[in-house]
Amino acid sequence: MGRLQKILLPFLGLVLALWFYSARENFKPEMLKGKRVIVTGASTGIGEQMAYQLAQMGSHVLITARTEAKLQQVVKRCLELGAPSARYVSGTMEDVAFAEHVVKEAEASLGGLDMLILNHVGASYFDFFDGDVEHVRKLMDINFLSYVAMATAALPMLKESEGSIVVVSSLAGKVGFPFTVPYSATKFALDGFFSSLRQEFSLQNINVSITLCILGFIDTERAVQQAGSRLRAEPAPRDECAREIVQGAALRRREVHYPHGSAQLPLLLRDWAPALLERLVRGRFR
Ligand code: NAP
Repeated sequence: MGRLQKILLPFLGLVLALWFYSARENFKPEMLKGKRVIVTGASTGIGEQMAYQLAQMGSHVLITARTEAKLQQVVKRCLELGAPSARYVSGTMEDVAFAEHVVKEAEASLGGLDMLILNHVGASYFDFFDGDVEHVRKLMDINFLSYVAMATAALPMLKESEGSIVVVSSLAGKVGFPFTVPYSATKFALDGFFSSLRQEFSLQNINVSITLCILGFIDTERAVQQAGSRLRAEPAPRDECAREIVQGAALRRREVHYPHGSAQLPLLLRDWAPALLERLVRGRFR
């Protein structure tokens, strides 16, 4: 019996691992050809890079942020890269009505929607919590409520296309981080809302995928400027990050973790050794 277990268990593990990996579909750029995609926060950073990736793969892109001049440049570049159509809507996500307006614009100009990429992020500080409750409320509006409003407004179109919602979050939305208290709160809220919504979609047989993206430190201008001198870590490249998100979304993954190792280890430790993890996290800051 003992010998049988020694042989049988590893064999079973191997068969399961082979089955798991062979069942995983591979990404092909054609998956995104002709798809109608909204990318928020696409005037710069990871959002801008996602717009370029999608353009190269032949998606119709509708981008949004506040700075019109930057959006115009990104649209121009998307068209040069091969997007069959590219347009922008400028405005602030502090205003829920604007968030809903962007979705209506997609309906009017694209006739539907296949993917909604929620990526924008409001400005916050990188320091000890300063007690400003009004700032937390404002950040909740931008980083959380507008995501909820856009997903809700887009749902009828996404149900029809059996499309996807992509929520760009952070390791700071899974694990407690110092110096990002209001930001972390908004990202934890996204996990609660969208992971619960995924469960309800499953129960209701709604074929709309939800991909939650858990990102570590990425080399965007804002992040490097704010955290670069305080973090003992090299930022990962934003174009590779954008590619991982777009591919994970096309494959309808539950979560995307990038950079892979530095995002997954904390998630493993989170429930088994929380005090150790907190110490390790604190040790990453100067
Ligand atoms: P970023 O470079 O600062 O870009 C943020 C985008 O959001 C810009 O397009 C900005 O454009 C837009 N935005 C800001 N405030 C807005 C508002 N009130 N209304 C509408 N749009 C607004 O950010 P990023 O570093 O690329 O981050 C992208 C996503 O990845 C965020 O969700 C962030 O939390 C997540 N993430 C990033 C890192 C990192 O290290 N970079 C790490 C973890 C998670 P305008 O200023 O023109 O409006």
